[in-house]
Amino acid sequence: MQLVDQKKRSSQEELEPVLYAALIDSMCQNFWPMLFGSVCSAVAALLTALKTGNVWLWPCAVLIIGIGTIRAFQMRKYERRTAVLTFEQAKHWEPRYAIGAMIYAGVLGVWCFLTIFGNDDAVAHMVCVAVTIGYTAGGAARNYGSPKLIQYHILLACGPMSLALALHGGFYYVGLAVLLVLFFIGLKGINLSLHAIFVKALTSSFREAALAGQFDTALNNMPHGLCMFRADGRLAVMNHRFSEMMNLSDKLVQRGGSASDIIDACVSAGSISAPSGRMILAEIENTQTRDMITTDPDIARNRSLSWTFQPMAGGGAVVLLEDITERRDAEARISHLARYDELTELPNRVNFRDEIGRLLSIQQGADQLSALLFVDLDQFKQVNDTLGHPCGDQLLCAVAGRMREMLRPEDFVARFGGDEFVVFQQNIRSHEDAAVLARRIVDRLSERYRIDNHLVEIGASVGIAMTTAGVSADTLLKNADMALYRAKADGRGTFCFFREEMAQTVEARRILELDLRKALANEEFELFYQPLVNLKSGRIATCEALLRWNHPVRGTVSPIDIIPVAEDMGLIVDLGRWILRKACMECMKWPEAVSVAVNFSPQQFHQRDVLSEVRYALEVSGLPAHRLEIEITESSLLRNTQITHDVLSQLHSLGVRISLDDFGTGYSSLSYLHNFPLQKVKIDRSFLEGIDTDRPLTLLRGVARLSADLGMSVVVEGIETTEQLELISADGAVTEAQGYLFSRPVPAVRIRQLLNASHGRRAPDDQLIAVSSRSIA
Ligand code: C2E
Ligand code: MG
Ligand code: MG
Repeated sequence: MQLVDQKKRSSQEELEPVLYAALIDSMCQNFWPMLFGSVCSAVAALLTALKTGNVWLWPCAVLIIGIGTIRAFQMRKYERRTAVLTFEQAKHWEPRYAIGAMIYAGVLGVWCFLTIFGNDDAVAHMVCVAVTIGYTAGGAARNYGSPKLIQYHILLACGPMSLALALHGGFYYVGLAVLLVLFFIGLKGINLSLHAIFVKALTSSFREAALAGQFDTALNNMPHGLCMFRADGRLAVMNHRFSEMMNLSDKLVQRGGSASDIIDACVSAGSISAPSGRMILAEIENTQTRDMITTDPDIARNRSLSWTFQPMAGGGAVVLLEDITERRDAEARISHLARYDELTELPNRVNFRDEIGRLLSIQQGADQLSALLFVDLDQFKQVNDTLGHPCGDQLLCAVAGRMREMLRPEDFVARFGGDEFVVFQQNIRSHEDAAVLARRIVDRLSERYRIDNHLVEIGASVGIAMTTAGVSADTLLKNADMALYRAKADGRGTFCFFREEMAQTVEARRILELDLRKALANEEFELFYQPLVNLKSGRIATCEALLRWNHPVRGTVSPIDIIPVAEDMGLIVDLGRWILRKACMECMKWPEAVSVAVNFSPQQFHQRDVLSEVRYALEVSGLPAHRLEIEITESSLLRNTQITHDVLSQLHSLGVRISLDDFGTGYSSLSYLHNFPLQKVKIDRSFLEGIDTDRPLTLLRGVARLSADLGMSVVVEGIETTEQLELISADGAVTEAQGYLFSRPVPAVRIRQLLNASHGRRAPDDQLIAVSSRSIA
């Protein structure tokens, strides 16, 4: 609103100099009336001079014709100018005109005064009064541009005349003088209203011109082409953009023409095709708002134009034209991105799902068989990690290329993300065809790749699901995925068909996951404890906390079944926290010399706040840090080596002991023993196999000796017989032993009894016979 007011004000200010110039212009263009008027007035003055014999009137006649002629030629000079009168020029012309007009009026006044005063010639009186009044009336009409000037004119020309009439005396002369004064007042009023009308007309015409100019600028600068047709179908307006987009000549635009002329010209210019032209014409004549899109007849240009037809109130139509080529291309690019994988240019998951859905809906017949092959690359992650992502990307493109080459045109391949590809093999005769393709995929993808001068080898696993009547795309994908899971579990580099029992396994796993969540919430878990016996003292040095799940239907579930699922679900972090706190609290109930060992999963170990978790568990339970042992496996050490090292060091500086569990089952890297701050090594019970023969015993003793020499306690797990115990403890390198021989994992209540027995608070228990017998021995 403020902006609009400001605009109004500024246009008013602009208008005033222009208006002033226009008013001056209106006064200065009267050569012929001026010349003719002055000749007539001069003749009249001559007549009065002749009639009255007053010699003073002769110079009046000369002055009238002289001044009149000068003024007339001034006007002629003015009229000969070609340029529009500017404000500055108007200021120059105005005084010239005004001075001339006033001198002229003054001379007329003097002439009247001399004729009337001191003279009784009624004819002469009539002549001079008539001419002066006539001239004044004409001046009032002509000089509406300057009301002030006409006032001076009346004063100078008619003042002396009225004065002379009044001085002449006599009823009629005085009466005429009075009437003339009234007449002049009226004349002044007419002049003022003429002035006002003219100013108003000029103002609005300027406004309209300014508006038209602005409209024109807007019209020619808008991004759309615009064309307006009148009710009779003829062109009213066309902007520059329209003619430019349609490649029309300026002549045609100036000539105007009918809608069909314009459209014909567009067709001839090659901007639209003839059928499009016919449709556009029909729409212009239509009375409804419509849109349409035309494409360029020139395929190389490949231009898309959007036409909007808007009928106007009194007939006719407005046509808006927009070049939407860029927008259309951008939309096409976006839709391509949404449906294709940017890297490999293969269809993506969404595209594949839709396409398979469509193909399955067509493929109704039971005799038509197709297969969906879910392909997953093996060792792709390693390539990414070792050679970097750009190499990984190139590898994926190479894989996509090989897949494309292998398939028939009717088969459909997509990238599902990461290193997953999916193939829909249509219309095959039997399972065998799918198996053949799967084998070829595995073999071909396993061949060497050359990526940036690196020779890369990967493998592939394939899960296959065959179509059945009415199967949905989602089910097919899910089934192939399950089959892939199995193929990978079977050792990778192979393929596997989906079987119904896989779905059952998956379903069972899903239920297990649900049950596990509930179990954690309902505290259905329990910790059992298994002692680690110090071989020198024969006493229990540590008890290992082992998870048990008492399920109302499943019975007691082994941690071997729980832990991997909890790890996959991410539940292990919460579960691990519960185990840690529970074990620490339980340990507080044991003799001070006994520690508790808690197993940590790699995932749990790598959570960010593992340190604060341990600190908190110690704090709430009140357990001194040296009574807590954390058992980790080699897989925990494998990931993020530096971070792992730091966390272990921090735990160690807290006073917590770290023990390497199941040593010998994984990489059994001796460098781990050296590089990480470990205080205990637990040699896996698989080392006990064939221990009664030379080689395994030597191996076990070697590992034990090495660990002992590195300053670590050595535990052997899974001791079941006294013979095993004898053999491992013979050379003194093994410090502790754990196994059924001493005790199976037992509930918390039972471990307390065992501990009391081991630490001499109560009679020895039968389960501790082996310890007792050794300690006795
Ligand atoms: P582990 O940490 O090596 O625990 C020792 C496993 O060996 C226990 O099995 C124990 O019952 C078994 N065992 C001990 N002595 C003998 C023996 O003389 N002969 C035989 N055949 N087995 C023996 P369990 O309780 O079934 O636990 C299996 C694994 O589950 C554990 O191996 C550990 O890796 C994991 N686990 C158990 N509890 C937890 C837990 O609270 N957290 C985590 N992260 N893992 C746990
Ligand atoms: Mg353990
Ligand atoms: Mg173990």
